[in-house]
Amino acid sequence: NVAGFLPGFSHRHSIQQNRLRSTASLPDVPSQQPPAVSFAPLQTFSEEEGMMREAVQKYARDCIAPYVSKMDEESAMDPAVIKSLFDQGLMGIEIDPEYGGTGSTFFSSILVIEELAKVDASVAVLCDIQNTLINTLLSNLGTPQQKEQYLSRLSTDTVGSFCLSEAEAGSDAFALKTRAEKHKDYYVINGSKMWISNAEHAGVFLVMANVDPAAGYRGITCFMVDRDTEGMAIGKKENKLGLRASSTCPLNFDNVKVPEKNILGQVGHGYKYAIGMLNEGRIGIAAQMLGVAQGCFDHTIPYTQQRIQFGQRIFDFQGLQHQISHVATQIEAARLLTYNAARLKEAGRPFIKEACMAKYFTSEVATLTTSKCIEWMGGVGFTKDYPIEKYYRDCKIGTIYEGTTNIQLSTMAKYIDKEYDH
Ligand SMILES: Cc1cc2nc3c(=O)[nH]c(=O)nc-3n(C[C@H](O)[C@H](O)[C@H](O)COP(=O)(O)OP(=O)(O)OC[C@H]3O[C@@H](n4cnc5c(N)ncnc54)[C@H](O)[C@@H]3O)c2cc1C
Repeated sequence: NVAGFLPGFSHRHSIQQNRLRSTASLPDVPSQQPPAVSFAPLQTFSEEEGMMREAVQKYARDCIAPYVSKMDEESAMDPAVIKSLFDQGLMGIEIDPEYGGTGSTFFSSILVIEELAKVDASVAVLCDIQNTLINTLLSNLGTPQQKEQYLSRLSTDTVGSFCLSEAEAGSDAFALKTRAEKHKDYYVINGSKMWISNAEHAGVFLVMANVDPAAGYRGITCFMVDRDTEGMAIGKKENKLGLRASSTCPLNFDNVKVPEKNILGQVGHGYKYAIGMLNEGRIGIAAQMLGVAQGCFDHTIPYTQQRIQFGQRIFDFQGLQHQISHVATQIEAARLLTYNAARLKEAGRPFIKEACMAKYFTSEVATLTTSKCIEWMGGVGFTKDYPIEKYYRDCKIGTIYEGTTNIQLSTMAKYIDKEYDH
């Protein structure tokens, strides 16, 4: 168990970010100046975070890597991988230990997603959606009874799916048409969803449905629907370019009866919850894209150091070195944007613009990195003998889900406009 590696794991970490350093003794600093403050670099981890990162690195290498190629080829997540994620405490990273969770932090989740994505983006998104969307929604909004019933399952054996998108409602998600009609103490859901990640294995679905179409998006309400609920059908999974081991399915709701007690949060507030969760979730996708870029780079550089052409290592050609250094700089910048957005969120400071920037930029960097890595590997990079072509396919989703690149840019622009609005 990854969590088990960590002494005092359930305790919140504290980073000594603001260590005070007196400058009074320096000869050229006037004594009346306030003491200088030194801040930790962004890549500073608490002891707990550092241990978690190392443990997940080892776990991903030993327990996930052997499955990756087969899962991609067969377009199917191996149940053993899902089980091991639960066993390692990685499906309930921030869930309170009271409910069987690991009791760690958002930043730890980000590090975990990055480490998993270095090895497989599909496993990373399974862990990402569970931790950054499903568990957080339940933890923030659930009644004590809902938490008791669902959080303990989500941290130990049940995958959750987040169901917002529909065929006619993608970027314009709140135009959704799925309806929930109130009866005595239950609702009846009718409609359909598309693109629902992890639906093949999910035991619980957080479904956004409109209870009052006349009120527009203010009718959108979040329902918890169990997999075996009568009338809910999970369609055939999509045959995708990348992220193939992650199931992406349509769902159909045909008079699905859901008790009123399965409403998460308040009636009509679903749109707020979805926006809020996706704002945070974007930092998770940034971490996934960062991991994809770094994982691909890590596979490629050693090859360039070994491959000999014209009597020397291809790494030694200046033409290659400059490209490699450029990509390494982009990855570093992507990491700093991602970690900064995560630290802002964790500190309770505004982070939405920064989360959009991180998701937008890391997706671009993953695209650049994986494309360049294929070029640097030459012909073998284009074959399935090496994992590079898979990274190249897997990275494309970063520009699409949890808000397309255009949507990230539009959101950033809203904030920029406001900042300059005097
Ligand atoms: C693999 C995968 C997994 C997914 N998982 C989930 C999931 O688990 N749950 C879920 O609810 N959804 C999920 N989605 C859905 C995903 O969030 C949507 O695909 C995404 O929001 C884009 O919607 P769309 O595909 O309808 O594209 P569209 O909205 O039709 O966009 C098409 C193009 O138009 C552009 N565009 C649209 N509106 C604007 C605008 N206002 N300004 C500028 N450009 C615009 C877009 O940027 C894009 O380039 C998943 C999708 C995929 C492919």
